Amino acid sequence: MESTIFEYMGKYDYENVFLCQDRSVGLRAVIAIHDTTLGPATGGCRMWTYASEGAAIEDAMRLAKGMTYKYAAAGVNLGGGKVVVMGDPRTEKTEALFRSLGRFINRLGGIYITGEDVGTTLREMEYMRMETPYVITLPASWGGAGPISPATALGVVEAMQAALEQAYGSDTLAGRTVAVQGLGMVGYEAVRILREAGATVYAGDIDAAKVRRVVEEYGAIPVEDPNRMHALDVDVYCPCALGATINDQTIEELRCKVVAGSANNQLHEERHGDRLQEKGIWYAPDYVANAGGTIYDTDRLLPGGMNHERAMENVRRIRETTREVLRIARTEGIPTYRAADRYAERRIAQVAKAKALRAASDVQMR
Ligand code: NAD
Repeated sequence: MESTIFEYMGKYDYENVFLCQDRSVGLRAVIAIHDTTLGPATGGCRMWTYASEGAAIEDAMRLAKGMTYKYAAAGVNLGGGKVVVMGDPRTEKTEALFRSLGRFINRLGGIYITGEDVGTTLREMEYMRMETPYVITLPASWGGAGPISPATALGVVEAMQAALEQAYGSDTLAGRTVAVQGLGMVGYEAVRILREAGATVYAGDIDAAKVRRVVEEYGAIPVEDPNRMHALDVDVYCPCALGATINDQTIEELRCKVVAGSANNQLHEERHGDRLQEKGIWYAPDYVANAGGTIYDTDRLLPGGMNHERAMENVRRIRETTREVLRIARTEGIPTYRAADRYAERRIAQVAKAKALRAASDVQMR
């Protein structure tokens, strides 16, 4: 971190950073709360072998801010937060450690809600849930939403259609060519939806069995080198594997008119988003396109609890959101990743104003 923690907090308007230590179980964790204008700060629990305490704090803060934008753009009434646990997820995960973390989260009284992230699984969520109700991602048997990847895949395709509309004047998938890179939980579902809608799908994965499966089940066209999928002559490049696949090496090789996928942090650096704009490629910003799982997962916080139909309807609204983000980009002449941030910031500002009005009327009624 180049600046002090307080300077960094001030620069990006962070609300809190909590350090949690329980030596009896080897817990060292950082809970960062970025913004609670829309609701309790929510975001997953990451466990990682950080090089330093500073690196852990910085990661927690950076990820918390990302969640503020993700929820705001998704139309979900939650703020942005994150917890990172310092340690090796392969060897240092214990029930005691996560129950201790659960107790720290409980102490915060609901201003922070946790979930799964890199290095944690539903098992750790169960441990934390034993100590606190403030856990969003849980197995269905524990009251959670169950698998969220189908919702993520649907959201990606909705975002893709909004971008196709911009690029070609039509959102129809029939007859379009799409390269789906990564056939895991999201990519597999995306292939199914795209094929059912009549698109031609090129499919690649480092795992040959996953490629065979979508070829056999959905008639996808196998791609031999999964790392060269960006360069295929297709309408859409759909990255559903790793982040940073839009980088100095790949960007000049893109032949598509649309980039829409589920991978997080698709742009290696922001300047790659600027370059996509210059090249006339419509990029559906990652955190807008991949919010379906989050929308689905958090539906159970809405009135009446989990409602599958309502959740999927809200996931489909990713199309409208993407359309609006692309409209902002077009009318303001800015890259789409910046337009997404603007869209999110505007929603937060508007809700803050509505809340202030409500607070004012509360005072008058007393
Ligand atoms: P996953 O682990 O199930 O699937 C990833 C797939 O990518 C695997 O099949 C893996 O073999 C493949 N892969 C790895 N390296 C590759 C390469 N170089 N080329 C081609 N394929 C490669 O993960 P997932 O849940 O399907 O998520 C996919 C991406 O979407 C991830 O970046 C994830 O962070 C992001 N995402 C997922 C969700 C969700 O609901 N699961 C939500 C938001 C974002």
